[in-house]
Amino acid sequence: MTQILIIGAGQAGLTAVQTLRGEGFDGAITMLGDESFAPYQRPPLSKAYLLGAFARERLFLKPDAFYAQAGCELLLNARAEAIDRAAHTVRLADGRVLAYDKLMLATGTRVRKLTCPGADLPGVFYLRDIADVDAIQPVFTAGAKLAVVGGGYIGLEVAAVGAKRGLDVTVFEAMDRLMARAVSPAVSAFYKTEHEKAGVKLLLNTGVEAFEGAGKIEVVRAGGVRHPADMVLVGIGVLPNDTLARDAGLACDDGIVVDRSAMTSDPDIFAAGDCTRHHGREGVAIRLECVQNAIDQAKHAALAMLGRPQTYSEVPWFWSDQYDLKLQMAGLARPDDTIILRGDPVSRKFAVFHLRDGKVAAVEAVNAGPEYLMGRKLIAANAAVPPEKLADMSIAMKDML
Ligand SMILES: Cc1cc2nc3c(=O)[nH]c(=O)nc-3n(C[C@H](O)[C@H](O)[C@H](O)COP(=O)(O)OP(=O)(O)OC[C@H]3O[C@@H](n4cnc5c(N)ncnc54)[C@H](O)[C@@H]3O)c2cc1C
Repeated sequence: MTQILIIGAGQAGLTAVQTLRGEGFDGAITMLGDESFAPYQRPPLSKAYLLGAFARERLFLKPDAFYAQAGCELLLNARAEAIDRAAHTVRLADGRVLAYDKLMLATGTRVRKLTCPGADLPGVFYLRDIADVDAIQPVFTAGAKLAVVGGGYIGLEVAAVGAKRGLDVTVFEAMDRLMARAVSPAVSAFYKTEHEKAGVKLLLNTGVEAFEGAGKIEVVRAGGVRHPADMVLVGIGVLPNDTLARDAGLACDDGIVVDRSAMTSDPDIFAAGDCTRHHGREGVAIRLECVQNAIDQAKHAALAMLGRPQTYSEVPWFWSDQYDLKLQMAGLARPDDTIILRGDPVSRKFAVFHLRDGKVAAVEAVNAGPEYLMGRKLIAANAAVPPEKLADMSIAMKDML
């Protein structure tokens, strides 16, 4: 019987199990994860779950009974330590050795850690896992001074939840604008205004040099200026979990390199999700950290493991919830795109379209569902839309194609 082994029990791992069974695979599936939980959604961790508005059970992507019903042996608290490609086996930290015919790596990412003095003091937190939120909750209380290091999605979502829960929030961002790696200046400026309206203090162009103290923390910024804090949340990005692959001699380049069918440099090993680097639909090598990629790439990996490879060319999409604002993005923006604003940010409902060679390449939509949905279709269709038409609010989005 064919044996498929999946390392990493997250969104991508689960999707592969579902796809394999959905496609009629009747061999053996084993999925192992080093956390103590069955696959769960991470997005609510920095949003509704941190706020206390989302029950823990709802985090889980499938009920426990699903795995037995799907004929998937789920091994938790099980860490893969080495792949022996010649023998087609994987060794776990507890010494067990599991055999595979096809192997899928869905190991995700880990947080990038600060290395400055005091970075490991108690009270300095990161946010990736359920366990991280559990550690944060007891100190995440009204009146507490929260210092957020990093004005990206995670930092700003936590800042928004903190402000809502009555914490006194200060964000330290080294760049000159918020979410600079991911959104256009117009969207950065809009979110700056919104956070300030909510009482969040934003310190841009401000790097953190050290943390001092015990219990109460002093955040030390360049020049020695100090800010007292009860807790620090660091959100400065993630690193791909590609060590296992690298040690096994698979091609890696800041992520496990896969082709567009999700195959690694070994034809019996596939990879999907945050841990991979692939050539996206635009032919540029990228590493995507989003649910869409975890799901779509895992479906491709499953099909490829069944000997039916397909070319992955889905339009990437992502969302972020901050306050009552839903930011939805699709496509990959570039700094030299032509920017078209549709709607007025003051209305708190607007979209920014990115045109490249006259074609819609990306969209950022704030509380603007139709703009986002049609934007995705326009990107997928490689459609050219005149800029003045996109900007004209009297023309409905459904009439853009
Ligand atoms: C707080 C937070 C908010 C987010 N918000 C959004 C959002 O709004 N929208 C969005 O699209 N995306 C969001 N994301 C990103 C999204 O959660 C990820 O893109 C998605 O979880 C990737 O799925 P994955 O299966 O590739 O990896 P993961 O979900 O990271 O799962 C990988 C699993 O593999 C395990 N593992 C790693 N190495 C080993 C090993 N050697 N042995 C065994 N197990 C191992 C890991 O511990 C982990 O459990 C958010 C992420 C976080 C942390």
